[in-house]
Amino acid sequence: MNGTGTGRTDGNGTHSTAENATTRTDRTQETVIVGAGLVGAVAACYLAPRFGPVTVLEKRPDPRADPGPQRRSLVVMLSARGWRALSDLGVADAVRRICVPLHGRCGHLPDGRTRMTPYSRDGRPIWAVERRRLHRILLDAAEATPGVSIRFGQRVRSVNLDRPAVQVEDRHGTHRLTCRRILGCDGAHSATRAALQARGARIKVRTLDLAYQEIDVPAGRLEPDITHYWPSGQAMFAAHPLPSGKLSGSLFMRRDGPAPSYAAARGGQELSALFAAHFPELTGIIPDIEEQLAVKAVSTLTAVHCDRWVWRDTFALLGDSCHAMAPFMGHGMNCGFEDARVLVDCLDATSDPSAGLAAYETSRTEDAHAISELSYRHYFTMANPPREESAADVLRGRLTTLFPDRFVPLYERCAFTEDGYASVLRDDRRLDRLVAELLARHGTGLVSVPDDRLRACVHAPTTATLEDSGCS
Ligand SMILES: Cc1cc2nc3c(=O)[nH]c(=O)nc-3n(C[C@H](O)[C@H](O)[C@H](O)COP(=O)(O)OP(=O)(O)OC[C@H]3O[C@@H](n4cnc5c(N)ncnc54)[C@H](O)[C@@H]3O)c2cc1C
Repeated sequence: MNGTGTGRTDGNGTHSTAENATTRTDRTQETVIVGAGLVGAVAACYLAPRFGPVTVLEKRPDPRADPGPQRRSLVVMLSARGWRALSDLGVADAVRRICVPLHGRCGHLPDGRTRMTPYSRDGRPIWAVERRRLHRILLDAAEATPGVSIRFGQRVRSVNLDRPAVQVEDRHGTHRLTCRRILGCDGAHSATRAALQARGARIKVRTLDLAYQEIDVPAGRLEPDITHYWPSGQAMFAAHPLPSGKLSGSLFMRRDGPAPSYAAARGGQELSALFAAHFPELTGIIPDIEEQLAVKAVSTLTAVHCDRWVWRDTFALLGDSCHAMAPFMGHGMNCGFEDARVLVDCLDATSDPSAGLAAYETSRTEDAHAISELSYRHYFTMANPPREESAADVLRGRLTTLFPDRFVPLYERCAFTEDGYASVLRDDRRLDRLVAELLARHGTGLVSVPDDRLRACVHAPTTATLEDSGCS
């Protein structure tokens, strides 16, 4: 990548005479990013200073001028990976000013008890931010970056991978834009991804069995610095505080199948009855819940699994276009920001752009698959809390306290470190095996032995018995 910003000079951007009259060539573009969502904006900020001009094409109008309907969660959680990108781009302070720090999540259990799980063992918070305000800051930052231009109302219809170009539709008709490379940041229903699929990439796009409705929760009834959730087995309600003191809630429930599901609750009234049966406490906290359930849209959740993310030196996918995932770990956007950083690092590390893109794909795919798996699994952990903690859970908890550096809780490691998600998942499985082995060898009494004895058991060779290591 030469970073000169002069665009192609080898003739690949020329048009065949058969193309229609509205076709136009713009040979000055170095990179075209498709999609000015959260990830597209971050990718533009990272790319332009190092690799020359970037044109971002966005099918929707500018959300700063025309906010339109809210299409997804009002709030997103920022973790260490997200903050890393925001710091790199110089907007961390501006974003922090509009965030709410959250110290843990409080489960309001069906039997009336509450269970508090801190997000970290040392009190570090994760941060909730309104999606719209974050998006505005990122679009402003992208537009303020020399070399970046964002064009709204430009829908990309197709991508040419060999002679890099995009076919764009706008209110004037269609035109073709040639460039040096294309980055597909066009979300879960990506149009650019189709080009990779046509070259044999295996891509699975799945609508998850869960759907959700966004519900406003009034201020003043719930603690404002934690996430709240109400698990009820087959449904879950979660609420994240906003800076105003109100909370942004989401009702998650199966889309189809027997009650409780959105399909089974056919009308607003049935949905309200179902809600009241599963979340009696919330009907007191949200006085207009019936009206909200009747009018708020039910949104689906999409998961994308993609085995190829790049094509030679001309094309790469980032963000939801290649790894849309269930939202329950709060990492889709954070992971997408990390994609953008890793991509520019990989391109920077070599003079061969094909090798740079290949390194990006190798470095990201396993991690994206791991966090997707963890995110889906986390829903079931949250929605079905056990009545009593199992011996394995108690032992896990004690090990993470006794050996804080060796055993870091999975959620904490995803949220507060930049360790690869795949290595986090592998270590978690290793810890599962260790706990199972310790319990098999020493029995459930191990969970209540004093610290020094537990330490000895963990350090003991695998053939040791409880008696050998003094844990009886
Ligand atoms: C309920 C919910 C809660 C979530 N909570 C969190 C959280 O707490 N933390 C977290 O990290 N993540 C969270 N996520 C995930 C996060 O929202 C996504 O990972 C993130 O928005 C992905 O950004 P993106 O830019 O890749 O895609 P998108 O946000 O989908 O942006 C894609 C952009 O491309 C544009 N576009 C699409 N097609 C075209 C085209 N053909 N031509 C031109 N433009 C096009 C779209 O208009 C859009 O602007 C949550 C998701 C959901 C659904």
